Amino acid sequence: MADKNKREKTYKKIKKKNIWSSIVAVVLFSILSVLVLAAIIQTLTLYVIDEKLSAEYESIKDMGKLYEGKVISDLSGLYSLLDSQDRDYVIVNEAGNVLHQKGEATYSAEKKEMSLSDHSESIFVYTDTTERGVLFIDQRGLVSVDVRKLHAWLRSTNEEDFVNKNKIEEYEARYENTGFSMFGGWTPDLFGLVRDSLKVDKLEFPIWISLDVNKGMEELIVRAMVQINTRDFLLILELVVVVMALIGLILVAMLISTLSTAVKQRRITTLFFNDGETGAHNWMWFLIKGQHRLRRSNSPRNRFAVVNLEFVKYRNYCVCHSLPEGQKMLKKVHGIINGLIGRKEMCAHCSSSNFALLLRYHDVEELKNRVYGIIEHLELIGEDKKFSFQAGIYLIDPFDDIDLERDYNNACTARASMADSDDSGIVLFDDRFADDQKWLSAVEERQSAALANEEFIVYYQPKYDPSTQKLKGAEALIRWESPDLGFVSPGKFIPIFEKNGFITSIDHYMLEHVAKDQKRWLDAGYKCVPVSVNVSRAHFVEDDLAGQITSIVDNAGTPHEYIEIELTESAFFDDKKAMISTISKLQQNGFAVSMDDFGSGYSSLNSLKDMPLDVLKLDAEFFRGDNTGDRGRVVVSEAINIAKKLNMRTVAEGVEEKEQVDFLASQGCDMIQGYYFAKPMPGSDYEKRMSAEVAPQG
Ligand code: C2E
Ligand code: CA
Ligand code: CA
Repeated sequence: MADKNKREKTYKKIKKKNIWSSIVAVVLFSILSVLVLAAIIQTLTLYVIDEKLSAEYESIKDMGKLYEGKVISDLSGLYSLLDSQDRDYVIVNEAGNVLHQKGEATYSAEKKEMSLSDHSESIFVYTDTTERGVLFIDQRGLVSVDVRKLHAWLRSTNEEDFVNKNKIEEYEARYENTGFSMFGGWTPDLFGLVRDSLKVDKLEFPIWISLDVNKGMEELIVRAMVQINTRDFLLILELVVVVMALIGLILVAMLISTLSTAVKQRRITTLFFNDGETGAHNWMWFLIKGQHRLRRSNSPRNRFAVVNLEFVKYRNYCVCHSLPEGQKMLKKVHGIINGLIGRKEMCAHCSSSNFALLLRYHDVEELKNRVYGIIEHLELIGEDKKFSFQAGIYLIDPFDDIDLERDYNNACTARASMADSDDSGIVLFDDRFADDQKWLSAVEERQSAALANEEFIVYYQPKYDPSTQKLKGAEALIRWESPDLGFVSPGKFIPIFEKNGFITSIDHYMLEHVAKDQKRWLDAGYKCVPVSVNVSRAHFVEDDLAGQITSIVDNAGTPHEYIEIELTESAFFDDKKAMISTISKLQQNGFAVSMDDFGSGYSSLNSLKDMPLDVLKLDAEFFRGDNTGDRGRVVVSEAINIAKKLNMRTVAEGVEEKEQVDFLASQGCDMIQGYYFAKPMPGSDYEKRMSAEVAPQG
């Protein structure tokens, strides 16, 4: 679980570096830059114009003062004095009639109020209507520049540059509808403007300033010239260009970093989500993307199943051919599966021979057929050989919380149930697996405490001589009396302990208890017989197994001839040398060693040849079903013969019928361990058996 969270966190970290945030930053920065640039231009231009206009206003105010001061009482004297000011002006009375004028009255009809930065009072102005009336007062009462007019005027000033004068109109027409001013919008031909401005020394723009005179009975409208040196203008432009260049540089840097982040992120996610061997998506990708997909789409109407697909004997293939050849095969497998699944389905290569699939389905049978179909395709990937594939399927419960790792594990469990077979096949995970899983956890949770609390009990199953009916031996068999699981038979927990390694503790426990029981019975005067104890194959990885067994028995003070060691047939397939050496040491120490389950599963004649064993235990299978016929008898009698020739005693296991007992007696079988004589029993019952001369007839 902790691992899963770590993985999700790492993935989220990578995701956080998402380039979208960088792109948004670039866009925001661009917008901000444009606004800042516009503000800079506006402030600077306003400052320059404001400065010039103020100067003009001051001198026009002087004209007003002449009027107000009544220095000149006759009008014609006043007019000639005003005329001498070298400015065009118009005097209008309250009714709007022109009383006097000098020069052409090119002011607009509308008077607008504006404020100058160094004047607290407002002034009233009219825009000049001629081509050079580049300045006007905008809605906010600010002096603005009509760039369109400025452009046109500059061009007409540099007339010689124009081959065709119509171009001015054309130019004007082009920008007519945009209606922009320097501050209301952006001129698209900034460089044209600069180029044209460079051809004149100064830019002069007329604007008409209105003054109320003669106590407001007349209005003096004077044409003021706002003079901007090209130098001022260029200074602003230079600044703008520098700022623009800076912004441009920053933008390029940001774009480069965004691009490199994008490339890096791609590389990291590829590494994070791909498997190096086949280039296919890996388990991490399956888990993280699969969880997302399920969260978005999993519903009772849109069901998903997770599949664990195993390439059976993949490792063998790699050994026979080569690892790169094997990886080529995996690539092929991945390609085929990808071609057979839908857009919303997923396939990943999880480990060497395992693939994980997330499939959609409506009907379980249809899903099974689909998986069969995929396997049928995959079986043919080799040119001359048919391969095997096994699939475990887990149907994801749309009402359960989403946990793809758990679900995949269930699919793996279902698949693992086919592990004994090398053929292709599919298994659906059902309640049986869930129960097994629950049982496994229940057993594993309790095993250590059970051992400490002595919940494991030794049962004894007597072995009788079929000819004399006398007790000749016994086998110690474990039982578990669990306070919460109840009475548990060894078939339900021994395989679990064999898998998880706890079996070694169990076998030591059993040996110790049997040795102690035997010692106690000997001391009590019982006529004791050898008791065999099972030793699992898992012990053979330990050093000095014979030494350990000897010291356990010696600790109890039991003579060695009362303890026999049973080794299962499958153990003989492990390290033969270690096995032979252990058997020899045990025999040197005075313990008899028997081969358990002879004849079950694999052929063990070979082991008989190599192992110097004392007892051969014929497996119960010899006495079940069809084997009871003539052929079965032949096999049993020959097995007994072989044992005799090898100086081994024989024990027949699982004997339930009288005829079997008689037959075995006739063949010279030494002992019989079976329900016919006795079932495994607690020590107290076994004591009674020891006391009795012959077997009670059952
Ligand atoms: P096993 O060693 O082959 O033990 C013989 C099994 O056959 C016992 O099952 C016994 O109860 C059963 N059996 C004996 N006679 C008859 C018969 O006439 N009919 C039938 N149907 N069954 C008969 P059990 O006690 O259930 O043990 C099962 C297996 O569990 C054992 O097979 C052995 O492999 C393992 N086991 C039991 N105790 C221990 C132990 O202490 N250590 C280890 N390592 N394994 C143990
Ligand atoms: Ca046994
Ligand atoms: Ca056996």
